[in-house]
Amino acid sequence: MRSVDEHRQVVAGLIRPRSPAAVPVADALGLVLARDVVSGVALPAFDNSAMDGYAVLAEDVAAAGADAPVQLPVAEDIPAGRTDIPVLAPGTAHRIMTGAPLPTGATAVVPVEATDAGTDVVTVRAGARPGQHIRRAGEDVTAGTTVLRTGQVLTPAALGLAAALGLTELQVWPRLRVLVVSTGTELVSAGTPLQPGQIYESNGVMLAAAVRDAGAEVVAAPMAGDDVDAFTAAVRGAGDADVILTTGGVSAGAYEVVKDAWTGQVEFVKVAMQPGMPQGAGRVDGTAVITLPGNPVSALVSFEVFVRPALRAAMGRSDTERPRRAAVLAEDLTSPRGKRQFRRGVLDGDSVTSYGPPASHHLRWLASANCLLEIDEDTSEVAAGSRVQVWDLR
Ligand code: AMP
Ligand code: MG
Repeated sequence: MRSVDEHRQVVAGLIRPRSPAAVPVADALGLVLARDVVSGVALPAFDNSAMDGYAVLAEDVAAAGADAPVQLPVAEDIPAGRTDIPVLAPGTAHRIMTGAPLPTGATAVVPVEATDAGTDVVTVRAGARPGQHIRRAGEDVTAGTTVLRTGQVLTPAALGLAAALGLTELQVWPRLRVLVVSTGTELVSAGTPLQPGQIYESNGVMLAAAVRDAGAEVVAAPMAGDDVDAFTAAVRGAGDADVILTTGGVSAGAYEVVKDAWTGQVEFVKVAMQPGMPQGAGRVDGTAVITLPGNPVSALVSFEVFVRPALRAAMGRSDTERPRRAAVLAEDLTSPRGKRQFRRGVLDGDSVTSYGPPASHHLRWLASANCLLEIDEDTSEVAAGSRVQVWDLR
């Protein structure tokens, strides 16, 4: 049997990055920058007002106070977006709004709250320091500054900065394109009545969501019966997928369609883990192929253990793994010796309880679990109160 760590390495070796490419800024959320962003402009681009108020010469209002009002004629009105820059004459004020360009010659902005808000003549009831409430050009970013670095995950704020600099595209590691193929003659899509012996398809829906959650893109999620021709046709719809993920059809029974179609191209192995023993990995016509077992819990746990970290690494992420923590087990547990067990669990503070039976069709429990308990190959019993390692799925 292959160890979990060996199979993780095999899968990681198969899933390779696409070449860096330019994507529109608005589509780059969660992607990883493949090139530093050096600002070509200054931010702010021009001196502007930080307040709604009046642009003045500071010395014109130096003597102003609550009991010593100073009156100035209002010569101009400068809303945000005004594109000509007026000149402020000494002894006058310009009414100005936040973000509007500072008139030439102004040395301070008096907030509207310190005035009577006059539009022809303004009464100022507070003095002003030179430079007060003025945002200077370049005080946030100067031209030539590296503002975002290669390897950085693009957050909403990073995209906002890129947009503020006037960029339309960013150079990133593209999302990998994944085809998710579900196999099983018993499968029916939700919305169609079931015949006896049929079940609703769930792995495709679940794995497509997991692929997107990992930051990759789903090309399509077709379903095929246990028939090699139908399966091959579903895979051919892959187009330019980087990775094909299949579920089902890889265990030891008859009608193992994935094995039948790909033996010789894909290496089918037993991995020493529970759930998820039957696995496969290889290349078919140059495309990376990972074959996951059909039981829903096995399929998703296998995705977590093998596929998610490899997908994220190939998209430039440094946080490829779920956070691991030690937690105190609230009950006694057993685990098969020689296999690494991944129990579904509920983590609450420092304490963890296993959630649901170990068998791999109990999707209901997985759906409300928030962690995986990882119990190593050499352990067959874990007593309540022991510290165990958990993968935090929150
Ligand atoms: P297999 O590995 O194909 O023998 O499938 C193992 C178990 O998982 C069987 O009970 C299947 O019906 C179930 N199964 C396989 N694929 C799916 C799927 N896409 N959705 C729901 N259950 C599935
Ligand atoms: Mg099957």
